[in-house]
Amino acid sequence: MKRIAFISELDATAKANWLAILQKQLPNEIVCLPEQINDAQAKTVDVAIVANPDPKQLDQFPNLVWIHSVWAGVEKLLDSTLSTSIKLVRLIDPKMSQTMAESVLAWTLYLQRNMAEYGQQQQNRQWQQLPSIASGDLRVSVLGVGELGLAALQILGHLDYQLACWSRTPKQLAGIEHYSGHTELKGLLAKTDILINLLPLTAKTHHLLDEALLSELPQGAKIINFSRGAVIDSNALIKLLNNDHLAHAVLDVFEQEPLLENDPLWQHPKVTVLPHISAPTDLNSAASIVAENITRYRQSNILPDCVDRKVGY
Ligand code: NAP
Repeated sequence: MKRIAFISELDATAKANWLAILQKQLPNEIVCLPEQINDAQAKTVDVAIVANPDPKQLDQFPNLVWIHSVWAGVEKLLDSTLSTSIKLVRLIDPKMSQTMAESVLAWTLYLQRNMAEYGQQQQNRQWQQLPSIASGDLRVSVLGVGELGLAALQILGHLDYQLACWSRTPKQLAGIEHYSGHTELKGLLAKTDILINLLPLTAKTHHLLDEALLSELPQGAKIINFSRGAVIDSNALIKLLNNDHLAHAVLDVFEQEPLLENDPLWQHPKVTVLPHISAPTDLNSAASIVAENITRYRQSNILPDCVDRKVGY
């Protein structure tokens, strides 16, 4: 039986839970932690499964062919010194896409129906009805039209929103205005009331939403960031919230996580802080997808779709 290394910075209980479920799903492999693998055995390891790993731990395995992440975002691995000959597979899980779509819908409605403001009014015993916008009059735009962006657009399509989206390459989506490439982004932003970010973090998307681009949004626009904190320049975001150009931001992801105790975002009246919960990995479905991919590889040498290192996602 072959050994598969499970490498993670999670706590001991979480690691034990992953090991147990992966071992159950992969009965013909020995799934173990790097410290349970000696030097001779390490040379035979060709597949590693990772959950937020310290990339240095992968150096222990000189003959790795590919790595399966149980997370959807893999920017930390791409930024590491990991050999470029090692293929990288990220988690693509319809259950995660569904969870993200539900989060997007929930927090879009939160913004549309002024729930943050009503929460604050209740704190102040303030009885004031705020103007509400009908779905049909609300322009909702999604940045990133991949696994998560598509699922989000699909669920938002059940309401009457004026939908638009943006991706790197051109696409055609029925009933949804599509924009692609950097030159078309300004045009999309100018026609957006609620902007939802589902872009991966890459060299091209790092601080993509800076002061200049955020200023292209109409006054009073609102933002949801559910992919990675560093896609938005948070200083620019705070500036535009403070000068009333932007009305509210729902942030689930931050450049530094957990968010530092003294970060101004915690107390900002126009910011809703969430602790990276918009689409957590589901242990059971992720383990069965990983096991299916590894079993197919063992049987037919076929790897699942891999991350394209040139574009960074
Ligand atoms: P994906 O399937 O790889 O889709 C990425 C999308 O972004 C694609 O539409 C791609 O365009 C577009 N894109 C990438 N770079 C671009 C650029 N420079 N300009 C314009 N568009 C660009 O990714 P996914 O599975 O939807 O996941 C997206 C991200 O969500 C992950 O990378 C991860 O960081 C984050 N995430 C967060 C959570 C959470 O709980 N908060 C959970 C899971 C994932 P093309 O279609 O043209 O390729």
